[in-house]
Amino acid sequence: MNTHWDVIVIGAGMSGLGAGIRLAMAGRKVLLLEKHYSVGGLNGFYVRDKILYDVGLHAMTNFVPAGSRGHPLTKLCRQLRIPYEAFKLEQQRQSRIQFPNIALTFNNHFPFLVENIRQHFPKQINGFLKLDAAVESTPDTALDGSDFISAREQLRSYLNDQLLTEMLLLPLLYYGSAHTNDLDWRQFAILYKAIYKEGFARPKFGVRTICRLLVDRYRTCGGVLKLKTAVRSILLNGSRAVGVELASGETLYATQLLSSVGYRETQALCGKAVEGEPSRLSFAETITTYEATPEACGWDDTITFFNTSERVTYEPTEELIDLRSGVICIPENYGDRASDGSSSASVPAPTVSNKLQQNPTDPSSTPSQSTTQRLTLRTTHLAGYDAWKKLSPEAYREQKKACLNASRACAFNILRGQSPQTVLAEDMFTPLTVERFTGHINGAIYGSTKKFRDGRIGYENLFLCGTDQGFLGIVGALLSGISMANYHCLKG
Ligand SMILES: Cc1cc2nc3c(=O)[nH]c(=O)nc-3n(C[C@H](O)[C@H](O)[C@H](O)COP(=O)(O)OP(=O)(O)OC[C@H]3O[C@@H](n4cnc5c(N)ncnc54)[C@H](O)[C@@H]3O)c2cc1C
Repeated sequence: MNTHWDVIVIGAGMSGLGAGIRLAMAGRKVLLLEKHYSVGGLNGFYVRDKILYDVGLHAMTNFVPAGSRGHPLTKLCRQLRIPYEAFKLEQQRQSRIQFPNIALTFNNHFPFLVENIRQHFPKQINGFLKLDAAVESTPDTALDGSDFISAREQLRSYLNDQLLTEMLLLPLLYYGSAHTNDLDWRQFAILYKAIYKEGFARPKFGVRTICRLLVDRYRTCGGVLKLKTAVRSILLNGSRAVGVELASGETLYATQLLSSVGYRETQALCGKAVEGEPSRLSFAETITTYEATPEACGWDDTITFFNTSERVTYEPTEELIDLRSGVICIPENYGDRASDGSSSASVPAPTVSNKLQQNPTDPSSTPSQSTTQRLTLRTTHLAGYDAWKKLSPEAYREQKKACLNASRACAFNILRGQSPQTVLAEDMFTPLTVERFTGHINGAIYGSTKKFRDGRIGYENLFLCGTDQGFLGIVGALLSGISMANYHCLKG
């Protein structure tokens, strides 16, 4: 392998790929190093027992129709020169925020949510519209300043109904807060627009469509990607990073480095300790494929955010999983229903094509489509890293099964309707799985509570991108990589 590069990017998650493409497009000699055997990071995919699963994807936030100007999704298409149509996006049907005895629904048309709030909280509508105006005037994507401003406190100045505040916060906390029961106001503004004002979509064939597009684009522009290549340490000369040492012992040098692996994790690679405790907000995720249809079960919503009391409990837990709140996603509830009653958004069957069996981790492989009716149930809950960590391997396996069953029972209770019976495939991942496959300490997917908006963490030529730079989710992480590449490596 060449040993000197213009830029080495550590981690081929969404932000690393976004940064890599921008740099390769500009003619930089760029090397993307990924320790895992496939790309995508927290939003990747994997094969187990010949079954293909998406890791993270519930929803691609920030949906806007093709041609909409000045929005994150169309901005990233333009920056990466990827045609909007290539993502093959299908829109959500409708999503729900379910609290005891009350639900708010929303879709990809903001006025629908406004009407819902007017109906359920008539006295709050003026305050809500003022909140909306305040969000619109917040410079949420500015790269300067990283001080925490409590979104809860800001909301208090617009809304005087606690229940509405809790309901509006729940999806935003679950989709991007590293803070206990709160989030930073600018993060609130980003997520509010991404979820409520723009909305949810999903590539027809899941996250591998996105991974494939990004890897193809990166390679076409001349970028080099090395999988199964972990960085063991970052080599420093004073405050300058000069290169990396790989787990294999090989040494590579670069003029600049971008790291997408997180703040603490990057400092650890530099041999520096960080004061204070790392975040303990970790999650567990389950996925079950049934032989059923959403119609037969009477399950119409795409995503359901639920909380079983009137106050949100978004906090680290000592338990294996915390079933008091969570997120339920039915991927088949994207796209229009076909006239035969099956969903046009049907996800690939839990079987893989010959091509995938030959190379299951190649994002350019296309899964075969099955005619069997499928319903996929994905659930997410807060989970306790320490509780999982102390289990023996046997107890870990048993508890995974028990938690999978408990989470499904919880989802059935929230969704009501007719529960499906025939399970075709199932899996679950815990905070330990996240830590093992992405390196995020404690499996905390939203990373550090402190974000570094300009990517600077104390080195002349080593910068952060991704989660701890402050932009999350697929679209956010991609834009983070793009903006850090533009700002630090391509400016001037
Ligand atoms: C369960 C779950 C559900 C989610 N749902 C959604 C969703 O529905 N919609 C959405 O938009 N977002 C979702 N997300 C969040 C989204 O996945 C992340 O915000 C985003 O993908 C983060 O990208 P990133 O590039 O910052 O970090 P990461 O994805 O963490 O990428 C970092 C990469 O660095 C690699 N790495 C780490 N250490 C090293 C090393 N030493 N050497 C080399 N490589 C290394 C890792 O393997 C990883 O690939 C979800 C996440 C999870 C876990």
